[in-house]
Amino acid sequence: MKILVLNAGSSSLKFQLFGLPDLRVLASGLIEQIGDEQSPARLILFDDAGSEQTLKRTTAVAEHRKAIMVMADLLRESGAMTDINELAGIGHRVVHGGEAFHEPVLIDESVLAAVEELIPLAPLHNPANLTGIRVAMEHADTVPQVAVFDTAFHQTIPDYGYLYALPYTLYEEQKVRRYGFHGTSHGYVAGQAAHYLSKPLAGLNIISLHLGNGASAAAVQGGNCIDTSMGLTPLEGLIMGTRSGDLDPAILFYLARETGMDMDDLDTLLNKQSGLKGICGENDMRTITELAEQGDQQARLALTMFCYRLKKYIGAYIAALGGVDCIVFTGGIGENSAIVRQMSCQGLERLGIILDTEKNAQRHNETFEIQATDSMVSILVVPTDEELAIATQTMQVINNA
Ligand code: AMP
Repeated sequence: MKILVLNAGSSSLKFQLFGLPDLRVLASGLIEQIGDEQSPARLILFDDAGSEQTLKRTTAVAEHRKAIMVMADLLRESGAMTDINELAGIGHRVVHGGEAFHEPVLIDESVLAAVEELIPLAPLHNPANLTGIRVAMEHADTVPQVAVFDTAFHQTIPDYGYLYALPYTLYEEQKVRRYGFHGTSHGYVAGQAAHYLSKPLAGLNIISLHLGNGASAAAVQGGNCIDTSMGLTPLEGLIMGTRSGDLDPAILFYLARETGMDMDDLDTLLNKQSGLKGICGENDMRTITELAEQGDQQARLALTMFCYRLKKYIGAYIAALGGVDCIVFTGGIGENSAIVRQMSCQGLERLGIILDTEKNAQRHNETFEIQATDSMVSILVVPTDEELAIATQTMQVINNA
């Protein structure tokens, strides 16, 4: 039996096929640039011996409906899956579950309606997620399908943490509040950290730092999230590739008045032209690190700002948690950038956070620790695996149904 995990983005479809019962990855694929005339589609097939075989195709994929057909073709052609109805389940990543979903759920019409209602909160993502679900349900109507929400893990944040200091009616009527994102990743790496430390998650205070193109921090107490840096949307919090993260909201009124920028201009400015890119023109941390090493002042500034913001969140979450046992770095930057880990922990020695430079310079494909022997706080690098987490939760929901 097999489980398929689908992650439909606004113009992409990621998918991964897992074998049961051990949830071994059988195939992994990506279709990009959906909507363009030519959309690259790729499938990597993994065999028992650990070798890989890649199937590539460039085809016109006008929309997600077609993308799912191309995915099914690739899976059939590779031999990984002969018929979509042979699956034990399909797990769907859904970005926004609002306040309606605190955990993964078996999808039925009422779930679809609730996800649809949440579109205004995630106008780019929820429609793509919904199409993915609908098409998968049409093609595999006997296969149980599960929605796993990016926001669900953060539903344990208390009201004083998730409310903005705006008129309360805006929360009641417009649902304006902090939701947070990357929840599947934060939940997964917190669990992996407890496993690595051989300690029950229930007894740990963890600060999880998911640093990829999008970046967020979460304060996790006994396995429950008590605060996170992203808000109503993924724009708030840390500095990201192209997103500003925190700023004085009055900057928007100022810019609108002084420059005539309208809502859409400001949206583009903050989401697409800011962050690392806004400061140094680049949004890829590898390029920025190389430029900074070569003496590029703007790249150095972007890197310093990124790490300073991160350090402020670590400090804030130590206060929120009343002390921290473990800091986890994950995501493309968190897992790979020794300089970001070093700069964001620098100066926190008096708080018991001491990095070991040599350990930090290492690279592994699995969880490893980078704290010095005299550090009171464990500092871990944990590779995230959102697809595996979705597959695991999908199986749990189906088994409990
Ligand atoms: P993600 O969104 O998790 O795929 O992460 C993407 C980010 O990870 C990009 O900013 C990449 O530059 C960054 N990244 C990936 N590999 C490295 C690396 N070896 N060193 C620094 N940053 C990296």
